[in-house]
Amino acid sequence: MIVLPLLKGLKLTLKRFLNPFSIITIQYPEKKREVSPRWRGIHYFAKDEKGETKCVACGLCQAVCPSNVITIEAAEEPGGTRYPKRFLINLTRCIFCGFCEEVCPKDAIKLGRNYEFVNYKRSDFILNKEDLLNYDLVKP
Ligand code: SF4
Ligand code: SF4
Repeated sequence: MIVLPLLKGLKLTLKRFLNPFSIITIQYPEKKREVSPRWRGIHYFAKDEKGETKCVACGLCQAVCPSNVITIEAAEEPGGTRYPKRFLINLTRCIFCGFCEEVCPKDAIKLGRNYEFVNYKRSDFILNKEDLLNYDLVKP
């Protein structure tokens, strides 16, 4: 009676083996799996036409963040426009809920599609304004 389950297993193995569309393993990291459009990865700043952050340091993202990982120091330009002199996100405690992106009135903060984020030091998981603007550093 042991033969029947064995044959069933072999049939499944052969089916998978002969069907090129059933490939499950990919050659990571050379090949990368597409993530869902709803994926919430590492944050970045959307830029205005001058290449500066659209953030006006209103503090809403800081207030809504359930993990309390956003630190903002606001400043004002001579014309009265506010901007973040200092903007930090501590990714070691971020839960990638996306609330900061949702609440932002300027569409300034975004969650990207990157899922690869490894570092040797914990301090490297704290993104500053330059990191957020330089999205090339953190996108896939
Ligand atoms: S994704 Fe959520 S936890 Fe992370 S910084 Fe934004 S609001 Fe905070
Ligand atoms: S990222 Fe958006 S919500 Fe956060 S301080 Fe800047 S403008 Fe306000």
